[in-house]
Amino acid sequence: MATTLSRVVLASGNAGKLRELRALLEPTGIEVVAQGALGVGDAEEPHLTFVENALAKARHASAATGLPAIADDSGVCATALGGAPGVRSARFAADLDGAPRSDAANNTRLVRELALHDDRSACYYCALVLVRRADDPQPLIADGLWHGEIVGAARGEGGFGYDPHFLLPELGRTAAELDAATKNRVSHRALAMRELLAKLTHARLLPAVPAG
Ligand code: IMP
Repeated sequence: MATTLSRVVLASGNAGKLRELRALLEPTGIEVVAQGALGVGDAEEPHLTFVENALAKARHASAATGLPAIADDSGVCATALGGAPGVRSARFAADLDGAPRSDAANNTRLVRELALHDDRSACYYCALVLVRRADDPQPLIADGLWHGEIVGAARGEGGFGYDPHFLLPELGRTAAELDAATKNRVSHRALAMRELLAKLTHARLLPAVPAG
């Protein structure tokens, strides 16, 4: 018999992600606590796919806290770069020079490498995983894809990471030029969360929204 979720740990130390995930979970009434607030550090992310890394992070946070955990593994995938930076998005520049992780350095490397190509198309991808406990045999898995293109000149102050260089051609704005509510309606993370919440409802871990 499933019991509804009342409290979950968010398996991330990324302030931008935590801000967005909190806002996206707010309507559910679930109490969310960041793993850092419970003294839990980052998990290893050794895998080749977003979903495997998200599962590893969720298990790590759940094992350390005894709480159900939600993890996000996400990144930007440029077509001309064969899907890079992909799962290496947070460490794209550090992978080259070993310097500490930096959004500015990541953006510089992405723009520099794409300058050699005509195709600037890219997408943001997000895998979201919820585990009820560390050894949950039925993790709930959702994903979201957001198409855009990479521009050389940074624009906008919102969001985080690659947002100042991620242009939405149909909106004529970068992700960093969207207000937080708009990004949280249309982003890869928003799409994944919508799917995850539907799956939680189906699994009777969230109350069904009454029709009408
Ligand atoms: P992760 O914590 O290993 O999943 O790394 C995610 C990385 O992907 C972040 O550090 C950002 O560089 C990038 N990323 C993921 N989602 C977004 C987004 O919504 N905006 C900008 N960058 C993002």
